[in-house]
Amino acid sequence: MPNVVVVGTQWGDEGKGKIVDLLTEQAQVVVRYQGGNNAGHTLVVGGEKFIFHLIPSGILHPGTICCIGNGVVLDPEVFLGEIERLKSRGIKLGPENLRVSERAQVIMPYHQRLDKAREKAMGTAKIGTTGRGIGPCYEDKVARRGIRVADLVDPKILRAKLQEILPEKNFLLEKFLGDQPFSLEEIFAPYQELGQKLKPLMANISVLLQLAVDTGKNILFEGAQGTHLDIDHGTYPFVTSSNPVAGGAATGSGIGPGALSRVLGIVKAYTTRVGSGPFPTECLDKIGDHMVECGVEFGSTTGRRRRCGWLDMVVIKEAARLNGLTGLAITKLDVLSTLNPVRICVAYDLDGERREVMPPTLAELERCQPIFEEVPGWTEDLRKVRHFEDLPVNTRNYLKRLEELAGVPIQVVSVGPDREETMVLQNPFA
Ligand code: GDP
Repeated sequence: MPNVVVVGTQWGDEGKGKIVDLLTEQAQVVVRYQGGNNAGHTLVVGGEKFIFHLIPSGILHPGTICCIGNGVVLDPEVFLGEIERLKSRGIKLGPENLRVSERAQVIMPYHQRLDKAREKAMGTAKIGTTGRGIGPCYEDKVARRGIRVADLVDPKILRAKLQEILPEKNFLLEKFLGDQPFSLEEIFAPYQELGQKLKPLMANISVLLQLAVDTGKNILFEGAQGTHLDIDHGTYPFVTSSNPVAGGAATGSGIGPGALSRVLGIVKAYTTRVGSGPFPTECLDKIGDHMVECGVEFGSTTGRRRRCGWLDMVVIKEAARLNGLTGLAITKLDVLSTLNPVRICVAYDLDGERREVMPPTLAELERCQPIFEEVPGWTEDLRKVRHFEDLPVNTRNYLKRLEELAGVPIQVVSVGPDREETMVLQNPFA
């Protein structure tokens, strides 16, 4: 059976949550493979709004097993809090439908304090992190001093690790950042307790996925953030600390890359960015305001206003290559209604030279001027449209041009936040 990886093609917030939810109907297993609780998927189901930070939204579908892969950094308090919130809304959660990798890294209180203190110390040069300790946790993973989920349930290991780690963290916090240190006891007891609460959900996700593959189940891999926030391929250093690109689904969940047969790229019909970093097609005018207002472009985790601009096909083509996209899902097409003309960035002008590939340095990307193609806009409200043929001719032409430029077929078109406001042109699982 084909497995599908869902990736954001831009800087995150493409509307992956809704598309994942839609595809989950066909998946028996859903896996988050990277990121932490800095991601936020917003879903509207039957007019009811759900926000997910860590748990795959597939949890709304009875019978679907949702997994947190080893590539994720897990804040146990946030995770358990999310479980409780969903339970209070009548969603059933337990080991039968929710499993956490025993190898996932744990976000500790010192990661959060370091994150916030560092951003403060950096002043205007700050990355714009969400201050949730994600970056510092990934740093410790690579430095081989991380605490993993399995460590929380063994008091000896947990104590020994904290004894080793804390002096360095406290030195940094106190002496370098002028913040408060931690005592071992204030972390040890509560984290041991959190470990006990996580214990029933702990699993070897790699084994679970192999079994799913062997028994012909459909697996959906859900990436957080987006391609251009990838630590290796994104607009470094204004990136996240993990690999949202499709290859990250293999390392972040413990499955061989051969099992990732389809890759669906989520493309918002315009571009948004949170935090700092170059953004060639940014609209700092009324058009940008229109996108913010009509697209409700405020972070679901942070509430921060997102920067908005025209669709950038240099960004999308790069994502098509980096992820090996086999299909596109266009979201928030409805937001472009009434804008005329609609612009598409097809290349950059860098110091008088045409560029179709993103340059490696921020300094060069800052100097890139977008080269736009214009297509006639449309005034119709698209939210009631359910069939591609019923879209206004200008909207269809816009989509056809995107498909042509990307060189990847459009499989899904979304015209509103609700599950029903979607057109599936080709089933990504087919
Ligand atoms: P994600 O992290 O990629 O899932 O993105 P977010 O959840 O942060 O942002 C997507 C937002 O757009 C959510 O509030 C969705 O309900 C909403 N949304 C998704 N698809 C559409 C669409 O086609 N049109 C409109 N107007 N809103 C959409």
